[in-house]
Amino acid sequence: NDNRKSRFRIVVMGAAGVGKSAIISQFLYDHFQIEYNETIEELHQGEYDFDGTRLTLDILDTAGAYSFPAMRELAIATSDAFVLVYSVDDESSFEAVTKLREQILTEKNSNDVPMVIVANKTDVGDDKRSLGRETAESIVCVDWGNGYVEASAKNNVNIVGIFKEILRQSKIPYALS
Ligand code: GDP
Ligand code: MG
Repeated sequence: NDNRKSRFRIVVMGAAGVGKSAIISQFLYDHFQIEYNETIEELHQGEYDFDGTRLTLDILDTAGAYSFPAMRELAIATSDAFVLVYSVDDESSFEAVTKLREQILTEKNSNDVPMVIVANKTDVGDDKRSLGRETAESIVCVDWGNGYVEASAKNNVNIVGIFKEILRQSKIPYALS
């Protein structure tokens, strides 16, 4: 059964500065970085034991600018599941997620691709928030049929939840606990 493979590749995509690297760092290394590093592409690896079964997660961090379209195409082609991140204080980053999602569905030639949309930086005050939860959640869950997670990499809120949701959608028989 192909769904039961224990090695799994997740790619994290989104506009520059939305917190992709911060999410990965918080998830894998329990660490939040204040500095902003412009990543080109970085592959992280995490090993987990679920009910005695070892699951290897390859987590690909990407650059928001995507100055190399071929790299993005390759990242999409080689990944099993997609974490698309936007920042709640930057409405244009939600537009970037919209475009990325369309490109992924086109390239995968499928509507059934494991995908979670992350509203990051929910720790910023409501006054700085430009995209409300209800609007975003309705677009993502109702219109698109994808998973939606409100998170803060800074405060480590719902970071594990992102990866739980992506594994759940991927029909991985083991759940993160
Ligand atoms: P990337 O370009 O998407 O990888 O973004 P980074 O992870 O490098 O984060 C960009 C900036 O946003 C950095 O200064 C982070 O410290 C900051 N940042 C990341 N996540 C959060 C968050 O949840 N809340 C807040 N307030 N800042 C964040
Ligand atoms: Mg980064």
